[in-house]
Amino acid sequence: MPQVFDTMPELTGTLDTDEDSLRWAARDYGDVVHHLPSAVLRPANAADIRTAVGFAQQHGLRIVPRGQGHSTGGQAQALGGVVVDMNQLSAIHEVGPDHVVVDAGARWSDVLRATLPRGLTPPVLTDYLELTVGGTLSVGGLGGASHQHGAQTDNVIELEVVTPDGTLTSCSPSNNQDVFDAVRAGRGRNGIVTRARLRLVPAPQTVRWHRLSYDTVEQLIEDQQRLVVTDTFDYVEGQLKVRDGEHVVELEAVSFVETASGTGRFDGLIFSEVESEIAGYWDFLNRLAAGEPLLRDAGLWDSPHPWCNLLVPGESAAQVLGQIEKELGAELYSDFGLALAYPVRTDRIATPLLALPNHDIAFLVAALRYAPADEPETVNAMQRANDSLVASTLRAGGTLYLDPL
Ligand SMILES: Cc1cc2nc3c(=O)[nH]c(=O)nc-3n(C[C@H](O)[C@H](O)[C@H](O)COP(=O)(O)OP(=O)(O)OC[C@H]3O[C@@H](n4cnc5c(N)ncnc54)[C@H](O)[C@@H]3O)c2cc1C
Repeated sequence: MPQVFDTMPELTGTLDTDEDSLRWAARDYGDVVHHLPSAVLRPANAADIRTAVGFAQQHGLRIVPRGQGHSTGGQAQALGGVVVDMNQLSAIHEVGPDHVVVDAGARWSDVLRATLPRGLTPPVLTDYLELTVGGTLSVGGLGGASHQHGAQTDNVIELEVVTPDGTLTSCSPSNNQDVFDAVRAGRGRNGIVTRARLRLVPAPQTVRWHRLSYDTVEQLIEDQQRLVVTDTFDYVEGQLKVRDGEHVVELEAVSFVETASGTGRFDGLIFSEVESEIAGYWDFLNRLAAGEPLLRDAGLWDSPHPWCNLLVPGESAAQVLGQIEKELGAELYSDFGLALAYPVRTDRIATPLLALPNHDIAFLVAALRYAPADEPETVNAMQRANDSLVASTLRAGGTLYLDPL
């Protein structure tokens, strides 16, 4: 144990400095940045976090919370500092008629397992459900329902937070609003969320899930913009990929059968083909779970993921996606790689630290690249391609999503 920790006040949980713990905390899903901390705090309660934050402040140590570590650029790492393993605090405390109270280390799949049996759901969910509540509230949390309900950070009623000076406090839009606004999308740098009271809405049991095909990205973007302005579907997302040598340009449009808020009709759309199915709401939400074993089998789950997440003004989305479309394929994405385009109405987002382009509609564009292990040249080439996407996005008045503050 480094000497600096000799005077750490007593904790109910543990402060671990063994090599396995430090290596675990120095690796994330991106597997590109590896910053070794001095210790990993495994808290037993929020008081442990308060103690450790106060101690870190006194000793000038960096202290960074980590959820599932699904960041791709070292955002949950602390070189020489303390990483707080939030997975230790993952209880679901209460499910009410319009809210749920959870510890910040709970994953969104845990939240849904508690709320769906009561016929309730958070209004916005990320595509992948194995991310923690604290982890996505610290970036924003965007999904296919963001065009209606904003970010996950816009659907928070109250937070319990340990502020950087080591105070455990609660905050909401009407109480400690400055803390509330600094922590949501604050990347864990303006306080550690320990507990959250989240908004719930009635959940459907089934969804009508349509996959619309397009010949060009321009057509995809045109239809996505049309759909989010008219609120026709409950969920809208687009994707580009190459499968079996064919370019696929696809829009997913989903109506929640029992709770639909729009018409769910295709009036005025310009797609070329459509495939539709009825699915259970949970099966739809959890659709990415099937991909994880395939990626593991291909050796691409625990390998580098130089991902790039951009918020692009609507008027430039087709240009940025066009740049991605030219690069899609094995060399810069691997056979599993793809790009996602989530349309977002900026007037539905009220999270001050979520920096959005100054435009009515923005797209979260995610370039999801999978590099094989032990191929640093491939990783470098993917990162150079990301640099070029970032430059195009910034030139167009866009912003970066998920980057450290
Ligand atoms: C497969 C996959 C799919 C994804 N899909 C989406 C998507 O659909 N939409 C979307 O918006 N994003 C998506 N993301 C990105 C994801 O939302 C972020 O990377 C998120 O921060 C990861 O959550 P985590 O629990 O793994 O957090 P970590 O990676 O552990 O931490 C991320 C950041 O949150 C901070 N943090 C963690 N816990 C707390 C806390 N309790 N209090 C304060 N700060 C905290 C950390 O310090 C760090 O800055 C996806 C990522 C992956 C890997």
